[in-house]
Amino acid sequence: MESLREECGIFGAYDFEQGDVKFDLFYGLFALQHRGQEGAGFALFDGNDFFTYRNHGLVAQVFSSGKVAEKRGFLGIAHTRYSTQGKSRKLLNLQPITVTHSGRVVSLAHNGNLSNYRELRREIEKSGGILVTDTDSEIFLHLYLKPCRKGHGTVDEIIQRVNNAARRVKGAYSIIMIDRGNLVGFRDPHGFRPLVIGKKGPRYYLASETSSLDALGADTVREVEPGEIVIINPRYGILSSRIDLDYPHSQCVFELIYFSRQDSVVFGESVYEFRKRSGEKLAEKETESIDIVVPVPDSGFPAAIGYAWKSGKPLELGLIRSHYVGRSFIEPTQFDRISAVRMKLLPVSSVLRGKSVALIDDSIVRGTTSRDIVKMLFDFGAEEVHLRIASPPIISPCFFGVDTPTKKELIAAQKTVEEVRKFVGATSLKYLSVQDLKDILGEKASRFCFSCFTGEYKAQTIPAHGELFRG
Ligand code: SF4
Repeated sequence: MESLREECGIFGAYDFEQGDVKFDLFYGLFALQHRGQEGAGFALFDGNDFFTYRNHGLVAQVFSSGKVAEKRGFLGIAHTRYSTQGKSRKLLNLQPITVTHSGRVVSLAHNGNLSNYRELRREIEKSGGILVTDTDSEIFLHLYLKPCRKGHGTVDEIIQRVNNAARRVKGAYSIIMIDRGNLVGFRDPHGFRPLVIGKKGPRYYLASETSSLDALGADTVREVEPGEIVIINPRYGILSSRIDLDYPHSQCVFELIYFSRQDSVVFGESVYEFRKRSGEKLAEKETESIDIVVPVPDSGFPAAIGYAWKSGKPLELGLIRSHYVGRSFIEPTQFDRISAVRMKLLPVSSVLRGKSVALIDDSIVRGTTSRDIVKMLFDFGAEEVHLRIASPPIISPCFFGVDTPTKKELIAAQKTVEEVRKFVGATSLKYLSVQDLKDILGEKASRFCFSCFTGEYKAQTIPAHGELFRG
């Protein structure tokens, strides 16, 4: 995989017996590190005071700061960031965002992207509103805190406030918040980004992925449904309500293809099994004579296992990943990313020499990383390199929390499959089709978003004029 970037990871915890949840936040967020590596932070509430700490760096670095050692709280939220809106190096843009408003303290952590962010920001600023970050997440918080007449101080007020904000925003948001001593979580009505509920003894959790619940030995209770609001507190346990907007479901299929951890269950699907079935589909379409199956580590592994199993060809580790280098695509510049590929992947010539290789990867974005990898395989002795991609060609940007390049930079938007093959230098190139993905998902397919593969966007999510096709 080359250069699509994840969005963010969010994690919340509430101990109904008022035990300290700081280390739960750490372990939960640590298991979501793959979703963002630019910065992290957490907010803790001890019944009286809030403590919010955010900094650049990885989760372990942020949590090991001396400033957080003595802090305690029974209710907390945490966030690991990859920026989709806002300048990435600005400390204020890290989350959670904690604000004081009319005597209440509210803290928010967001995964997703509000596609009408600029329009709303202009509107808020024109009316004299003050914003301290460049993020779309603060826009949601601003709208949430607008005057609300319903159920002052009760959960009804929270539900009403979420609805008020939801009516104004477009796009993707899975959000967790602390407000009035409640742990609050909701997904946008399309359900673009995941959010699950977990439980262990007196502790309740909200998390982007089930892997972080597994890391804590907690049970997965269930998903938060698209458009569902959950309010967790000792009085109600888990209270469920709804955002009053009836939008078609549009869960991001890329969570299954690439973003989520392979040990997670996302949108009710085992990520590992989905990727394995993708590999089987690729094998079913194979027309070339293949000697060995080689995954691009790590995200190409399950598809390669599925391919090898279906085709009966041996799976070989022809590329070894150096674990001392970060994920190459996370670096902010193209120069860094290309250099990092060569540092990260080590070809094994004894495996590759003289072989016809089925090279399995999850996707092609710009094509530059694939080109580097294919060249490396030939340099280390492969006779033929048949590149097999476990997703369709990406032809259009994402506006829902994934940082895709512009249409101009997406190689499949600019070139035919044969032209892409030539560019990456492979002997042959095959992708899965959108229909293949739909076949794998079966009757659930209608609940998923495939927009970056089709260029068709659901009406409620189309950004303001001029922002749709950035390229
Ligand atoms: S456009 Fe692509 S990456 Fe974005 S939400 Fe839809 S499937 Fe996911």
